[in-house]
Formats: sequence, C-alpha cells, structure tokens
Amino acid sequence: MAEARETVSTSEAARQQPKPPYGHLSVVCGPMFAGKTTETLKRILWAKNGRGQEIRVYKPAFDQRYARLQIVSHEGLAADAEAVHDWDDRTVAIIEAGVAVVFFDEVQFFETPNFNGDILLIIEDLLSAGVDVVCSGLDMDWQGKPFPIIAHMAAKADEVHKLRGVCTVCGRPSTKTYKKTGSGGQIEIGGSELYESRCTIHWAVPDLELTPDLFHGR
Ligand SMILES: [Zn+2]
Repeated sequence: MAEARETVSTSEAARQQPKPPYGHLSVVCGPMFAGKTTETLKRILWAKNGRGQEIRVYKPAFDQRYARLQIVSHEGLAADAEAVHDWDDRTVAIIEAGVAVVFFDEVQFFETPNFNGDILLIIEDLLSAGVDVVCSGLDMDWQGKPFPIIAHMAAKADEVHKLRGVCTVCGRPSTKTYKKTGSGGQIEIGGSELYESRCTIHWAVPDLELTPDLFHGR
C-alpha cells in the first residue's frame, strides 16, 4: 500500500510541475532562388545577436554545396551549422543547454538515406519541451510534387513564410523550381546550372510566348 500511495503522490507531483509553454513552429519555404536561406539567416542573426538567444542550426550532412559547417546565402551571409546524419541524444542536450531556437535548413532532406531518424518526431519533442523551431526548405520538387516533411510541417506551423522568386522567362513572381534538363530523380543537388525559378505558366510550358492575356488574373 505504501508503494501505491507513493506512486500516486509522484504522479500528482509531476502533474503539478509547471510545463514549459509549447514552442513556436515557423516554416520558411518556396522554390529555389526565392531567398529562403537569406530569410533563415536573418532569423538566425536576430535570435543570436538581437535577442541573445542560445540557438542551434542543423543541416543534412550530404549537402556540401558551399561549406561543410555553415549555411551560406547567395548574398554571402553565413552562420555556423552542424551537418548531421544521426540525431542520437541531441534533443536532451539541446534542452539541458537551454537552447531557445533550433533551425533546420533544407529540412526536406532530413530523411533516409540522408538522415537516420524521424525528423517529425524530433521537432515535436523540441516543441513540447518549449523550444522554438524554424524549418526552411523547398516546398516542391522540380516536378511540382510536395516534399512530405515540409508539407507536414507547414500544416502544423504557427507561421508559414512562403517566399516567391522571379521567373527567369517573364520576371513575374515565381513559385516553381524548373529543371533545365527536364529529367532525373526527385533529388539532384545543383545550382543555377541545373535549376531556375519560374512562374507556373513558364514552368509548365517553358517556351510559351508572353502575351498580356496569358497572365490575366494571376
Ligand atoms: Zn514566367
């Protein structure tokens, strides 16, 4: 009986513990060349230098376009980042270190075979512990298919910042990533030699001539 009473009182004590407020989830998404990395870096610099918050920045380990342990914008802004392939006990370490904001860059690539772990669960755990999370990445592949991770995160987010680029054909706002070769798998790492940002019309029909009527109402 004494043991049972102790169990009850322990769970009551646990219930009386003040829970940290649920973390704030932000998603920064859009096509390539829309300024996602610049927007993320602005948020990183504001959290770190403006608010003096403890932060962590993670990116998929396979991404080596610019620098292994930095995320770099096309304008040259940069922040230190940890390239991760496994998560291990990072969630505990983050909570114990009093980290206020965790950033995931190129979050759509945090899946097998690039990453061992369930990124959706990891983000849920961080939010539940009161840590704010900012996810940035591509919302769709070059074929217009949503990336499941970012689609899920955007649905759950408190704030979604969907950025648009500039169509390389007509100069109007773009929401799609166009692949110049028009072939290959969903994921092929590349820059402007391989991809362009395009409006829906010039993404769907690349050689369509521009006429004023074509864009009526868009
Ligand atoms: Zn266009």
